[in-house]
Amino acid sequence: MSEVTSWQVNDGIAVLTIDNPPVNAISASVRSALVDGIARASHDPDVKSLVIACAGRTFFAGADLKEFGKPSVQPFLTEVVDTIEASVKPVVAAIHGTALGGGLEIAMACHYRVAVPTAKLGMPEVKLALMPGARGTQHLPRLVGVERALEIIALGDPVLATAAAEMGLVDKLADGDLLAEAIAIARRVASAPPRRTRDLVAQPVPDAVYADFAARNARKFRGFDAPSAIIASVRAATELPFEEGAMREREIFLKLREGPQNAAMRHVFFAEREAAKVPEIDGVEPRAVAKVGVIGAGTMGSGIAIAVLNAGLPVTLFERDSAALDRGVTKIQSTLEANVRAGRMAREKADAALASLRPVLAIEELADCDLVIEAAFETMEVKQAIFSQLDLVIKQGAVLATNTSYLDVDAIAAMTKRPQDVVGLHFFSPANIMKLLEIVRGKATAPDVLATALAVAKRIGKVPVVSGNAYGFIGNRMLAVRRREAEAMVVEGASPQQVDLVLERFGFPMGPFRMGDLAGLDLGWSAEISTGSTVRERLCEAGRRGQKTKAGFYDYDEAMKPQPSSIAEDLIAHFARDTGITRRSFTGDEILDRLLWPMVDEGAQLLAEGIAQRTSDIDTVWLNGYGWPVWTGGPMFHARQTGIAEVCRRLEALGIQPSEALRNL
Ligand code: NAD
Repeated sequence: MSEVTSWQVNDGIAVLTIDNPPVNAISASVRSALVDGIARASHDPDVKSLVIACAGRTFFAGADLKEFGKPSVQPFLTEVVDTIEASVKPVVAAIHGTALGGGLEIAMACHYRVAVPTAKLGMPEVKLALMPGARGTQHLPRLVGVERALEIIALGDPVLATAAAEMGLVDKLADGDLLAEAIAIARRVASAPPRRTRDLVAQPVPDAVYADFAARNARKFRGFDAPSAIIASVRAATELPFEEGAMREREIFLKLREGPQNAAMRHVFFAEREAAKVPEIDGVEPRAVAKVGVIGAGTMGSGIAIAVLNAGLPVTLFERDSAALDRGVTKIQSTLEANVRAGRMAREKADAALASLRPVLAIEELADCDLVIEAAFETMEVKQAIFSQLDLVIKQGAVLATNTSYLDVDAIAAMTKRPQDVVGLHFFSPANIMKLLEIVRGKATAPDVLATALAVAKRIGKVPVVSGNAYGFIGNRMLAVRRREAEAMVVEGASPQQVDLVLERFGFPMGPFRMGDLAGLDLGWSAEISTGSTVRERLCEAGRRGQKTKAGFYDYDEAMKPQPSSIAEDLIAHFARDTGITRRSFTGDEILDRLLWPMVDEGAQLLAEGIAQRTSDIDTVWLNGYGWPVWTGGPMFHARQTGIAEVCRRLEALGIQPSEALRNL
């Protein structure tokens, strides 16, 4: 037997225990051990039946990440599953922890399943734009029916063993000793013929069941190939004999596995893990953060406070304006209340969070905070004034952070005598929901301050990406390029709705003009400084500031549904005339190229300038902060899949010279 297994026979019952820490990933050696175990059981006349169990904290929790994206190594999982199922001696799976993906496929190939009540069983492959490929889509509907199988496979969320027992996926819950229960079953069934899942019948269901399921989850499935592939494969279980269904599953599975979406999702998975790593601060101890201060109780400040409170940290919320403070506190209360009502949060947790919120009107009250996050108005004067005050009142050693969207973090830090303690923490709106946190490293930011920012990000459940200090950092700097191109195109003759539709078809939840109207066209604009030299400024001057004035690039009704606006259209046409631009029509392809590739070029420059550490960080920013369609892997990954030379060629076709940085990618 190999180093990952132990084998014991006691009174006719063999127990094969796999031990591949930490999660019993189904590596090649584990697969071999399973095949060998079945062979050994079948050859040993003393063995009547077999229990497959796992040592450590869990049953097989899934595939081996180290084998991801590499050529498969024999024996394949399908062979393991078939060998187990074909065993002439009954096989019992003893499940604790999690049985996920291939782990559940192994369990379903066993003839009986016993699980501890807290175990979780699931098929999360869909989350990597994939589906089970080792009989999972054929076995599961045979055990639990089509509807449940669709939910488990196409939604990808695990079920608790107690629920699995009710639906027939688990035969017995082990209340006491799991192994003893499994052995007892093995003994009971020792002389019975093996009960094979493949011999069950998956009952056909009306077409409407599949259609309803797809319709109910349309939003979640949008853009992805895997859900319809899963539906087809599950349907095959009801229409074809097992062998043929298994072949159909294999075909569909391989197509997904070789396809671009699976590659993209693997990239996304590793990109997020990678993003949290900064080689220079490896091993640097973060500072302790037990109390957090937030400055400004507006849109961002209140959202940040909620995110921090949700993580169980107390928040002191400071405002200069008592009405604004009240509004902020009310918003925090109502958000937590809504979470409780929706069942997303326990009442006690919400109460505890609110009890640890301290609203204050004097900045001195922040003195003992370990971390202060400023989210006041976006002007350098306001931020510099706040930071010079913070320097005077906050205890030494505290981390001082700004949530600025564009401003120079070094210029803000320079107002203090401790620029090493200053860092940018750029949250995204709504800050309690959006996953991205851009951590902006100033030129003086100390390594342990950066480490603290990363630790806090993790604690409050954010996906951090470290950025250098540059106008708009990673995300907004690229967004500015997209906005520039989008606005240029409408002046040149495309309509806002045409441009939005192209980007929405590509997979963004919202096109640039709907997004601009939502955020407010007047961000960073005021009548006094308006030069009227862009369409956006002209719209603001005309009182069209977006949804807040029910008019922007679109007109809005009471329900905030955007309608094409003839007023905006006239204003844009007028602007084109004034600036001597001849208008023409645009194709969808041209619009998409011009929205995406200049942004990617900007990304290449961010990398060349060292503002972004790696291209995958740029992808992580756009996927988690701006709604970039995840199945394409993010802007830089999408560009690579398209081919950098091809991207350069398309830029040239648009009359745009690709940068040196892009060519060098
Ligand atoms: P907001 O206008 O909703 O809120 C700002 C709050 O700060 C107001 O309540 C104001 O009373 C308060 N304030 C102003 N000066 C203050 C001072 N000196 N001391 C204490 N409180 C003060 O603005 P917002 O949208 O929450 O933006 C805040 C910051 O977050 C800005 O720097 C902005 O660029 C950044 N940001 C905004 C977004 C967004 O989508 N809104 C996203 C990321 C970052």
